[in-house]
Parts: sequence; structure tokens; C-alpha cells
Amino acid sequence: MERKITKVLNYNVDLFNFNEAKEFIKDKLDKSEGMQIVTINPEIIEMASKNYEYSNIIQNAGLIVPDGTGIKLALKLKGINQEKIPGIDIAKSVIGICTEKNLPIALVGAKEQIVEKAVENIKKEYPSLNISYARNGYFNDNEEDEIINRIKESNARFVLIALGAPKQEFFIKKCMAKINNAIFIGVGGAFDVWSGQVQRAPEIYRKLGFEWLYRTIKQPQRIKRIYKTLPLFLIRAIIESRKSV
Ligand code: UDP
Repeated sequence: MERKITKVLNYNVDLFNFNEAKEFIKDKLDKSEGMQIVTINPEIIEMASKNYEYSNIIQNAGLIVPDGTGIKLALKLKGINQEKIPGIDIAKSVIGICTEKNLPIALVGAKEQIVEKAVENIKKEYPSLNISYARNGYFNDNEEDEIINRIKESNARFVLIALGAPKQEFFIKKCMAKINNAIFIGVGGAFDVWSGQVQRAPEIYRKLGFEWLYRTIKQPQRIKRIYKTLPLFLIRAIIESRKSV
């Protein structure tokens, strides 16, 4: 399957719809090819623009899905109607594929009780799924090699890393230097949701593109993150779209 890449503020974004993205990943799983999936959003672009190494990781990912309203709006300004692909949803469907294909998965991230509960709930939903490795996301740099070895030995073919951005993408890069047949995805707060600890926005908010508003009301500490990046991101996206007319 050919990728359809466009740029948002000079950053690559894949223009697959949800099902195409799923098929693309399935194909990689079938071929035992490794890759990193990045769920791009305005915050990630902002961080990448300030950090060359991070920017390299983001730009060179095997699949870059538009996760959220900010990127969707920026694409709309370019005349592109793009479906949002939330990382948590695409990760969930790949877990489904791994269950069908009997491929082991690994989970690294979040607090101990959270990751344990997330594993428990995922197993309830997919009883035949093989979760070959799971651990919390609180470790020191000197423990990283050991953790990467454990992921490798577990033969996991789909590895979910929930450390938040940019930490998870940097860790995935290190993993990929040693593991070449697994698909890695950074899933931010997904384990918090799967554990039942954090509630996801109701469907209506998600459909209307207001998931960010719901999350901000529930976790007001997020307001700083949004207000620091979103307005400037949108202004830049508008300027960029005017230039290309
Ligand atoms: N986290 C972690 N180790 C760390 C820092 C964060 O495992 O050193 C986890 C944290 O417990 C949470 C997730 O990373 O589960 C970050 O979630 P957040 O909602 O901030 O991610 P976002 O999706 O907003 O990037």
C-alpha cells in the first residue's frame, strides 16, 4: 500500500482514512516489518520544531496519523477533508488484529496499578490475546536496555508505549535500534483510559471535534498545554494555507 503524505507546517502527515491506516499496519504485520507509528498533533509539532532529534524521529516514522482536531483543521485549511485517527482507537483495532493473527503484544507505560488494570481489561475484551510483556512507565535511563531486551525476548510484534510525548517517541527510537520486526506506537494516556481511571469524552464531543475541550474540563492542568500551542499553531496553519493559494 502506497503512503499518501502531505505536509502540515512542514511536517509529514499520512492521509489514510481509519480503515486504510489499519490495512497499512496489517500489511506490515503480515510481512513482519517493523515501524514506528506517530500520532501527530500540534503539541508534537511544536516540540519537534524546537528539537532537531525529535523532529527527525517524527518525520521518519513509518506511519504518521493525524490525531486530533488541530491537525484536522490545518488540513481543512489546505482543502483536505481528513478523518481524525485517534491513537487510542487505531491501537485498539491493531490489538484486535493481533488477537486474530495470534501475534503477541507488549505494553510499557503508566503507573503500575494502571497498566495492570489496563492489561486485565484488555484480556477481558480479547481473551485469546497474548500479552507477552507489560510493565509500568516509571524507570531510569539505566533500566532501559533491560526493558528493551525484555520486549525483544517477549517476541511482541505490536508494542504500545504510554510515556507521553516526547518521551515515548525517544524510547521507541531506542527500541527500534534493537528490534526490527515489531510495530511501535506511542499512545500517551491510553492505558489510563483502558484501566478505567480516566474517562474518554462522550461520542458527541469526539464527533464534533471537542474531545480536547472535554479533557481540559476534566483535567484543568491541561489548559496550559493547549493554550500554549493551539492558537499559534492555527495562525501558522492559516498563514501557510494563504501562501499556497
Ligand atoms: N508516564 C509514564 N512515565 C513517565 C511519564 C508519564 O508512564 O515518566 C505516563 C503517565 O502515567 C500517563 C502517560 O504517560 O499514563 C501520559 O499521559 P498524557 O495524558 O500526558 O499523554 P498525552 O496523550 O496527553 O501525550
